Amino acid sequence: MNSPIGWALIGASNVARQWIVDAIRAQPESQILNVLSSNEERGARFATENGIPAHTADIGTILSDESVDAVYISTANQFHCSQTLAAASAGKNILCEKPVALSVDDARKMITACRDAGVVLGVNHHLRCNAMHQKLRQLLAAGEIGRLNAVRVFHANFLPQALQGWRINDPNGGGLILDSTIHDIDTLRFLIGSNPTHVMAMTQSGRLAHDGVEDGIMVVMRFPGDVLVQIHGSYTVPFSEGGVEFYGSHGVLIGRDCMSQRAAGRLFMRNADGEREIPVHHHNLYHYALAAFSNAVRGTGQPAATGEDGLAALAIALAIRESALTGRQVEVEIP
Ligand code: NDP
Repeated sequence: MNSPIGWALIGASNVARQWIVDAIRAQPESQILNVLSSNEERGARFATENGIPAHTADIGTILSDESVDAVYISTANQFHCSQTLAAASAGKNILCEKPVALSVDDARKMITACRDAGVVLGVNHHLRCNAMHQKLRQLLAAGEIGRLNAVRVFHANFLPQALQGWRINDPNGGGLILDSTIHDIDTLRFLIGSNPTHVMAMTQSGRLAHDGVEDGIMVVMRFPGDVLVQIHGSYTVPFSEGGVEFYGSHGVLIGRDCMSQRAAGRLFMRNADGEREIPVHHHNLYHYALAAFSNAVRGTGQPAATGEDGLAALAIALAIRESALTGRQVEVEIP
């Protein structure tokens, strides 16, 4: 018998509406009790449209409610840290959207606060919950393509009109690196099993984004074992398909259509025997993330991506941004 988990949403966001409300309700004994919006009218509309019994503009209402066990934070990026600290001090478990914070110091404070309060902190890096990536990881770890030589990540698309807000006009919390490249970084960490030691990057701006906010990027990274990794990311490329390619001494693993929010992706292996498709049994990425988080709250296992994972991805993303700004290669430090 699973113990009940009462949830509150902190942020009346698009990602909550599209994916997380359903993913929470797909878990046993899990209910959404309240939603926080800074705007009364938006909060009321969100609650009605999503069948949530209460809405509030006051975080204190949620944090003082003993029936709330866990909060999902999906406000704009600059609020993740302060809201996590407040939730931890009220003893709530926290699933926070990425980027976990805007600075590594803030991310460290969040991890420490959650550890001290004895609550779970998860970060919603959803791509590692994709069954194709999970299969790819197994094959790499089993040495199916021999010694890893290089990796290419393709993650370019055209940002839908509805998302062309803070992502392209907020130099503080917006931009492609902390919105999308950070997912590529988390996926690479998950697949390769280590952190890059050095990064170099060049960015574009001005096709969609403005005020110095980047909307395109090419990154080159070096991982331990002298593995070179390249990422192309963009908000401004229509008709592209996201994918990954892993080049080893004895074969190549190719993932196609695997960099989205959908339960999608086809995996191919090419070696001396020719090319074959590896079967993948897909599951909903967000259901998977919520199941892992709910189990962690109930004392079994840990979130699909932990606070430490969120911090590492952020530190690497900030090193990439520094490289793009300075034109220099940057050594990655993960404190
Ligand atoms: P939204 O822009 O939909 O929501 C962010 C905040 O903006 C909300 O908390 C809301 O504030 C405010 N807001 C929402 N609608 C409006 C509006 N019409 N006018 C003014 N303000 C509005 O963001 P996303 O859902 O795209 O992203 C939220 C977070 O989730 C980000 O941290 C992002 O990085 C992350 N994300 C993660 C994804 C994943 O798959 N892991 C996918 C997409 C986003 P209020 O709550 O006060 O109403």
